[in-house]
Amino acid sequence: MEMYSSVPEFRVVIDRQACRLCKRCIENCSFGALEWRDNKVKAFDDRCVACQRCVSMCPEDAIALRRMPSVMSAHPIWTENARRDVFTQSRTGAILLASTGNELHERVIFDNLLLDACQVTNPAIDPLREPIELRTYIGRKPRFVELEELGDSVRLKTELSPALRLEIPIMIAQMSYGAISLEAHEALARAAVMRGTTMGSGEGGLHKKLYPYADHIIVQVASGRFGVHPAYLKAGAAVEVKIGQGAKPGIGGHLPGTKITEEISEARMIPIGADAISPAPHHDIYSIEDLAQLVNSLKEATRYKKPVLVKIAAVHNVAAISSGICRAGADAIVIDGFRAGTGATPKVIRDNVGIPIELALASVDQRLREEGIRNETSIIASGTIRNSGDVAKAIALGADAVKIGTAALIALGCTVCKRCYTGKCAWGIATQEPELRSRLDPVEGAQRVSNLLLAWSIELKEILGAAGINSIESLRGNRDRLRGYGLDHTTLEILGVQPAGS
Ligand code: SF4
Ligand code: SF4
Repeated sequence: MEMYSSVPEFRVVIDRQACRLCKRCIENCSFGALEWRDNKVKAFDDRCVACQRCVSMCPEDAIALRRMPSVMSAHPIWTENARRDVFTQSRTGAILLASTGNELHERVIFDNLLLDACQVTNPAIDPLREPIELRTYIGRKPRFVELEELGDSVRLKTELSPALRLEIPIMIAQMSYGAISLEAHEALARAAVMRGTTMGSGEGGLHKKLYPYADHIIVQVASGRFGVHPAYLKAGAAVEVKIGQGAKPGIGGHLPGTKITEEISEARMIPIGADAISPAPHHDIYSIEDLAQLVNSLKEATRYKKPVLVKIAAVHNVAAISSGICRAGADAIVIDGFRAGTGATPKVIRDNVGIPIELALASVDQRLREEGIRNETSIIASGTIRNSGDVAKAIALGADAVKIGTAALIALGCTVCKRCYTGKCAWGIATQEPELRSRLDPVEGAQRVSNLLLAWSIELKEILGAAGINSIESLRGNRDRLRGYGLDHTTLEILGVQPAGS
């Protein structure tokens, strides 16, 4: 029986007049959607994922991809996607896997927040002529500082906690080696060095090739403890404990044994071909006290020289959880919103669990301020940071810095085809296949990510200058510089933002 789920979503259209039969499109399609048959290129539309690789590689611009018109009668509730999913599961009896971020909730609150600008009474700042500071420090800040006068000089008596110095308030998110290729990891690490920020190792340990960049890498400790050893902890700029992630709150991870190559097995410290299973909970953490023990152990292991971050997914009681994490000694809390990306997750979890980063961030910042402990930890927001406007809005809602994942991958060439879980990424990013990996040049990729971060930094300075603010830290939690447009009263109340016009 022909099922709707096998009806193609895309059509590969080949201009036969223009095609010079060079076969480059066939060589480049990692999903097998193009084959050589009867002395011409034959397209198999049902295998096409619209990754755009063939379109980019065709020297004659002879290929175009078209979205197939719906083959189903319209229904407002039983959408085409809903019906496709039911048909697929009735065929397979299995969980639907998904990549990238939440597709069910299209509304992004950032889009309904408007930034302020100075007019007349409060002068704007021209970032081309006056300095505007983007540097920020991640870590515990003292409530006050004690100074000692020594003749003509002054000495800081207060002992400061270790902090991460970021030249820009934008970090690159945690993506593991295994989920993405070594070339992608290297490109991100190089970009972090170029722009004076950090990238995350993800939970898969650190390949030896990345150790030269390790002072710009936040090394992660997740429930599977893959690749965690003293040298790994000491090499990183900071250590991050992953409790949860926005795309899959409350569930673990699974990297199939087929993806555990010799190099990945070495970085993760597991046998070649063995499944890498990250349990849903850390089996030694069942309370804030347990978390405090792990945070302290990691501080001790790094001789109290590195900040320890704790990452959680944005869930319903995120403010109370964050308060506990702060009291457990975390130097920074990373909050990952429900639209965050991932290499692979059950679709039902990705699309239905968690809350938007905007609401989580505002409520955590507010709670820590009310409890008088906001200075004791930094807040880093991730999940839906698409441009410099989102960065500025997140910081105004209370973040010290943001992390970007999908945006960084797009800079590397990702077209958001949503097939990372297949391991066949045509752009050499979410794959371990040698031929596919060779398509990504880490040096060129690093330059593109660095360019993106530079462009956003320039735009951030423009935003700050327009608002008459000369330092990013002065924007942090400055919700008065935001207004809500088209948001309901309750949402505005949680955000702590006035409606536009007030
Ligand atoms: S890459 Fe373009 S020109 Fe070459 S075979 Fe494919 S469609 Fe034809
Ligand atoms: S990383 Fe690759 S497979 Fe994943 S969405 Fe991007 S292009 Fe597709």
